Amino acid sequence: MRPAVDTQIVVVGAGPVGLMLAGELRIGGAEVVVLDARDQPTTESRASTLHARTMEILASRGLGAVFGPLPQEPRGHFGGIPMDLTLPTRFPGQWKVPQTRTEELLGRWAVGLGADVRRGWAVRRVSDDGGQVTVEAATPAGVRTLRAAYLVACDGQNSTVRDLLGVPFPGWSATRELLRADVAGIDVPNRRFQRLERGMAVAVRSPQGITRVMVHEYGQGVPAVRAGRAPTAAEPDFAEVTDVWKRVTGEDISTGEPLWVNAFDDTNRQLARYRHGRVLFAGDAAHVQLPIGGQALNLGLQDAVNLGWKLAAQVRPVPPQGLLDTYHEERHAVGRRVLANIRTQAALLLGDATVEPVRALLAELMAVESNRAPLAGMVTGLEVRYPAGPEDHPAVGTRVPDLDQHDGRGLLLAAPGSDLVRLARPWADRVRALPLPPLSTDIAAVLVRPDGHIAWAGSVPHHLCTALDRWFGPPAAVAGQQQPGGG
Ligand SMILES: Cc1cc2nc3c(=O)[nH]c(=O)nc-3n(C[C@H](O)[C@H](O)[C@H](O)COP(=O)(O)OP(=O)(O)OC[C@H]3O[C@@H](n4cnc5c(N)ncnc54)[C@H](O)[C@@H]3O)c2cc1C
Repeated sequence: MRPAVDTQIVVVGAGPVGLMLAGELRIGGAEVVVLDARDQPTTESRASTLHARTMEILASRGLGAVFGPLPQEPRGHFGGIPMDLTLPTRFPGQWKVPQTRTEELLGRWAVGLGADVRRGWAVRRVSDDGGQVTVEAATPAGVRTLRAAYLVACDGQNSTVRDLLGVPFPGWSATRELLRADVAGIDVPNRRFQRLERGMAVAVRSPQGITRVMVHEYGQGVPAVRAGRAPTAAEPDFAEVTDVWKRVTGEDISTGEPLWVNAFDDTNRQLARYRHGRVLFAGDAAHVQLPIGGQALNLGLQDAVNLGWKLAAQVRPVPPQGLLDTYHEERHAVGRRVLANIRTQAALLLGDATVEPVRALLAELMAVESNRAPLAGMVTGLEVRYPAGPEDHPAVGTRVPDLDQHDGRGLLLAAPGSDLVRLARPWADRVRALPLPPLSTDIAAVLVRPDGHIAWAGSVPHHLCTALDRWFGPPAAVAGQQQPGGG
């Protein structure tokens, strides 16, 4: 007989995406162990932006109060061209929080929900025999193995799991890089994406007196030692940053004290498939992109929210047929679109004077609201709409913000006591009924997925049952008669 699994799901990587996923799996009722190679959470200052859709999701999970009041900026940019990001949402614009804080809060949330986070576990072998996944890790106490029904690789842009499986990761290699340093003791003018003759420069001084500088010198490639690697894998010297800064801006910052120095490039790759048997990928492990404008982090967090409830459903005794595969179908398409916009932004941001006419034309087009709004929708994640069938109501796939879904259940918005609400009772462990706001006259009910997107909208009772079955699995009585399988 096959040995029992140690846990239902192993998540590799306790970065923001792995921790978000762990919390989502727990509210979906799944057992989860998170393994991270580091002994301690990183203290590196990385992404600092949460976009509107992520803020909506955090609020739906009851995490808005946990994050507390955050500084908000209505304006962002597209390839360095200033862009107003405000759109109709409770969270217009971009919200500022250091990634270390995001990780700390998500970690506390996931652990509070019962996730088992193990640090100092460096995964070095993964095998999927079709029935379960075995993962081997080096730990301070020696080599350990764990068996699980599924494994999710959230192990970042240099994903070990991706390398171990050798899965196709097509895209573009790095051609340009940005050098970055947090520096104390310098006094240079603040500047946002300043385009100079020899390059592009950014300087932002924090209230604590630390200046973050970023610089790119036009026409310079990426040194082989760094190309396509995580910034920490081959950091530049501070002297390299100060030399390039001097050449581009004419200013001398070499007397400053470097607190953190790194480089990142415009590598742009996306896994051909986000699911390989019992192994799935999310966040930077699934897609690598120039980390600009916070899109990488937000894209990854939203991967986790799309995947969590589906994978939790997959390890129930009777999983919904085909639900798990919708993760790749939905998120790969979103990722492809975001990666394309990041590539466009890299060309605009890091291109020399020859891109000026394109920038000027784009700036003119972005001043027109009907152009700005869809672009802002893409950057903020608010435009995401998952595919719907030809017979579906036009609202299917769109998001419904401002609902309380902290328990991770779906919602049936319908008139209290109606036949449709009665019909959904056998799914009450997975779907909660709420009154339908008087929004629409052409439908009697809206079925909302745990990630806040509409699964179905209509009035026909047997269509609702089909949708409940498809997205949430069989009704409780039927599910209870089946033997547990574990997906
Ligand atoms: C140095 C740096 C600077 C960045 N700056 C910005 C920025 O300014 N703006 C922006 O928008 N984005 C930035 N990013 C990108 C942003 O931080 C990422 O998009 C985000 O962290 C992705 O989250 P993740 O959880 O997918 O991966 P990560 O945050 O990379 O987390 C992966 C986790 O997996 C663990 N891990 C890796 N290998 C193994 C293994 N074999 N076994 C066990 N655990 C493993 C790691 O220890 C890590 O904790 C930056 C990234 C880096 C690395």
